[in-house]
Amino acid sequence: MGFSFIEIEEQKSRLIFLLFLFLMLFYFIVAWLLIIPFNLVFFSRISGVFLPTLKQMLIAFILAVIAGAAHWSISVNGVVARALASIGARPVDEKDIFHVKFKNIVEEASVAAGGRRVEPWVIPVSALNAFALSDFSGRAVIGVTEGLLAKLNRSQLEAVIGHEFGHILSGDSIMTTITSSLFGIYSSLMDGIRRIFESGRHTRFSRSRGGGGVYIFLVLVYLILAVTKFMSKLLNMFISRQREYRADAIAVRLTRNPLALAEALHLISRGWRGAYLSSEHLASIFIVNPVHNNLDESESFFSDIFSTHPPIKKRIAIAVDMAHINVKNMEDELKQKSVPAERMSSTIQEVEQPEEDRWFAVDSQGQWQGPFAFGQMAAMPWITAETWVHKEFDSKVQYAWQNDDIRGLLQGNGAQHGRYSCPRCNFALKDVLYEGVPLWHCSGCAGNLVERSKIMRILTRRQQGFSAEVEQMGKVIKTTVKHSQISTKAGGSFGSAQLFNCPLCRRPMRRQFYNFDYLVEIDLCLYCDIIWFDKNELEVLQFLYEQHDELK
Ligand SMILES: [Zn+2]
Ligand SMILES: [Zn+2]
Repeated sequence: MGFSFIEIEEQKSRLIFLLFLFLMLFYFIVAWLLIIPFNLVFFSRISGVFLPTLKQMLIAFILAVIAGAAHWSISVNGVVARALASIGARPVDEKDIFHVKFKNIVEEASVAAGGRRVEPWVIPVSALNAFALSDFSGRAVIGVTEGLLAKLNRSQLEAVIGHEFGHILSGDSIMTTITSSLFGIYSSLMDGIRRIFESGRHTRFSRSRGGGGVYIFLVLVYLILAVTKFMSKLLNMFISRQREYRADAIAVRLTRNPLALAEALHLISRGWRGAYLSSEHLASIFIVNPVHNNLDESESFFSDIFSTHPPIKKRIAIAVDMAHINVKNMEDELKQKSVPAERMSSTIQEVEQPEEDRWFAVDSQGQWQGPFAFGQMAAMPWITAETWVHKEFDSKVQYAWQNDDIRGLLQGNGAQHGRYSCPRCNFALKDVLYEGVPLWHCSGCAGNLVERSKIMRILTRRQQGFSAEVEQMGKVIKTTVKHSQISTKAGGSFGSAQLFNCPLCRRPMRRQFYNFDYLVEIDLCLYCDIIWFDKNELEVLQFLYEQHDELK
């Protein structure tokens, strides 16, 4: 890959050395500046106030070493986990088709790149973005947003993942992960001190006698932190702008498909990048800056220093050049590709259930009956704890109560085995995939039971086509919202309606609108965080969301 192991190790040690030096210097300056108010307040030394004694210098140096080491270990330990938590990323869902595709691509890239293990993570937002994280322990993560999984085709996705692999292989990713985490600690510290400062201004500090000293202390700390944040930002940006071109080049080498990279970058640059994804200090881990800024798009000396990302237009131009076409052609072809966007009348796919044991049971006449599927037995009133049963192809006869699963079933704990029944018509719910997302579907009433955390995935994906009925329902809801008849219409119908019990926990569900932008009636279990959609309701919600999305 052009980056030898030794080179990366050397770069790592250089990085540790530089950052540690930077931290020590920072704390030395802080300690030095703290000596000034100390001298002012306790010794009333006005002359030579900025020149501490040799002893004080020595103390400042020792403090700097201790504080620097502490700061270093705090910010390096578990840095990947902290960054993942702060951007709200989650591990892939092994049952979700899009997630599994993403995981497979990461594994393939891992093989192509010599077996470096990388964890795939997903951010549940509709924005288009991707990131890489890694640390000194060897942990490496590649993450993408749900929006990216929904809107990019396989080869475009491969290009983006190749790009992120580039960051991990070249060691850039450790650099951005560690530096951004150092800044994270600074900025939260600065916020904390600003808060103390602001609350203290009105209360005890201003009234107490030594207040002046504390005041000066706080102002100094605040200033130092502001300056340091600025300095460290400078440092970050000196490192970072070239790394994006380098990772693009590695992506092309891994995938041999510069056109897919150009297309992916083009789509990402046109889409919403997820401005709220990260606090500012984490911007450098993303493939494009989550916050669009004009600085990134310009190429002045000034922006070379201050921007974390190079102009995306230039990156696209380079990739397009490698594919031997021009930008205009690429854009036209991309437009044509996306127009037909094949829709399916139904994206529901049944998930193959694992082969189940079947059972025989002795009825009241002493006759063997069966075979029954496990779930069926709950519906046979004559099967009790005292009934003789045996498994198919297994001659061992036992009482029903002797088998833990059947006992659970007879006690009404069928739900523990994932066999939920429809809250409307009591049919057994089936495990299905809808837009590639695992959920439960009732083949009796066509309702769907969906975990709330998975709804964003359904809303960002675009394979489901809509029937005339769904579109009609969607349009009615849209006009309702426009004329804000919410209060009059909603209140009445909700009160009188029969409420459902949650198929998981049996508690009554709450009937409400999905939210006030999308007036789709749903039943929600707050305990299980799960939503029941009656027939067509999920499709209508999707239809409304897509219409809204296209206006943006
Ligand atoms: Zn049903
Ligand atoms: Zn529940």
